[in-house]
Amino acid sequence: MLQHHSDLVFLAGFVIYVATRGVFAHRVKTVETIEKRVGGIEVVLLVFVMIGSLLLPILYLFTPVLNFADYPPPVLAQWAGAVVLLAALWLFRRSHIDLGKNWSPTLEIRKEHRLITHGVYQSIRHPMYAAILLFSVAQACLLHNWLAGYAAFVTFLPLYLVRAPREERMMRDRFGEEYEAYAQRTGRMIPKCTTK
Ligand code: SAH
Repeated sequence: MLQHHSDLVFLAGFVIYVATRGVFAHRVKTVETIEKRVGGIEVVLLVFVMIGSLLLPILYLFTPVLNFADYPPPVLAQWAGAVVLLAALWLFRRSHIDLGKNWSPTLEIRKEHRLITHGVYQSIRHPMYAAILLFSVAQACLLHNWLAGYAAFVTFLPLYLVRAPREERMMRDRFGEEYEAYAQRTGRMIPKCTTK
């Protein structure tokens, strides 16, 4: 239960993170979808992500049920966690802004879908997933509990590994050579240096 400064830092970040997603999800509510590719494995992995990134942190912060897995907070990890948290929140918001009405919670093509290659999409293809991974790292640094701390990272990584190639296949099918060229000059999560 809320016992360290780092718990409060995480809670503040968590509220901003959930609110950011809520605001942008609301904005695309009326945008029509013309294609959806949701695989069974993805749905199962998504349920694990919900448990790891929502349920366990809430149980850790507000109830004593996970106390048995607590460990003493290392000071350096708390500072590192705060910095990573800020970076994650910034990138999460920026990627939502740049993707605009093309965003979707599952793999979807919108009615007037455009390929976004500007802003944070200029050098990497998955800035939003990078932001979620960074947030998971911040969670591990800030919550000093073996279960609640690592749960988001451990559950999101498999989802990312399954989803990113499927998403890229969908984008290739939709945008063809335009996406091929975009993929050539960008990295998945790490910016690619291209020399002309
Ligand atoms: N993988 C991206 C986007 C996540 S949202 C990221 O991490 O930032 C998932 C949806 O975004 C997919 O259903 C796909 O339709 C859309 N999408 C992914 N990359 C896109 C791009 N460069 N331009 C437009 N839409 C994109």
